[in-house]
Amino acid sequence: MLLQDRYGRVATDLRVSLTDRCNLRCSYCMPAEGLDWLPGDEVLTDDEVVRLVDIGVRLLGIREVRFTGGEPLVRRGLVDIVRRTREAGPDLELSLTTNALGLARTATALRDAGLDRVNVSLDTVRRDTFETITRRDRLHDVLGGLAAAHDAGLTPVKVNAVLLRGVNDDQAPELLRWAVGEGYQLRFIEQMPLDAQHDWSRAEMVTAEEIFERLGEAFDLTPAAEPRGSAPAELFLVDGGPATVGVIASVTRPFCGDCDRVRLTADGQVRNCLFAREESDLRTSLRNGASDEEIAERWVIAMRGKRAGHGIDDPSFLQPDRPMSAIGG
Ligand code: SAM
Repeated sequence: MLLQDRYGRVATDLRVSLTDRCNLRCSYCMPAEGLDWLPGDEVLTDDEVVRLVDIGVRLLGIREVRFTGGEPLVRRGLVDIVRRTREAGPDLELSLTTNALGLARTATALRDAGLDRVNVSLDTVRRDTFETITRRDRLHDVLGGLAAAHDAGLTPVKVNAVLLRGVNDDQAPELLRWAVGEGYQLRFIEQMPLDAQHDWSRAEMVTAEEIFERLGEAFDLTPAAEPRGSAPAELFLVDGGPATVGVIASVTRPFCGDCDRVRLTADGQVRNCLFAREESDLRTSLRNGASDEEIAERWVIAMRGKRAGHGIDDPSFLQPDRPMSAIGG
């Protein structure tokens, strides 16, 4: 069985949210006071997460697993979940999307458990801007986490940045210069309508076009030769390479036609798209004693309804009910 939709796309890349909780409060993601977190009994247990991942890998052709959240490092069982996932899929590409708070303490354990690499979210290397965006004075911890990931061999370390107008949109070249110096692969991501506050505005969003313009003032960018495939980032060589920078233009240059992703929320719901308005409940099947094959079938059906595109630019676009932190970014 494959996770194939009506348009022939096959999902092989599974994003698993391990918690909706986070220890930062990025302004474009959630309000200062946080959100109503999922009740504990609704969140999948470690055993349930590992079972679903195992079904994905063994029965449904999943080849890549990325743990995310909320903040996956706040999940107590993370190292064990990684170890058991690696046992379920010795050939899996296994990565983590994280804000890197606390990564300095766990990077080596995660690598030893079988993690391949990390994507770290960081929108600025200025302490005051970091505090403005995340509402926490923790830049130092993030930088320590990044260095530990690099030293532990969780490479290539990728850094994901969102530019916000009037906040850090003037810092793109500075961020790239820093990333190149540290040996991290920087990717800029267009801000998407996934904030809990529903404050996103297309007019305010910093577009890929603007990002290119700003970077072009400081660097010579040329398209990288490697094929893009289903990777969301368009890659460019920085000043002739070998360093690269990526731009993920989810809004202005959507790549839905090449999408190979499927998501599992922390409470066990399959989402066939970040922007899906429907979810399929695997947790209830799991807890009602369904067999692996029955769960796999339910998962396959969930993929059939995947829409051709996310439709952000359509006048009829409706933001999903759940914010990014609850879906798993
Ligand atoms: N806490 C982890 C982290 O910081 O990477 C994982 C979850 S976080 C929701 C994943 C990514 O989503 C981060 O890179 C964050 O910047 C990004 N993100 C959150 N809200 C976003 C939005 N509205 N548009 C684009 N990216 C967003």
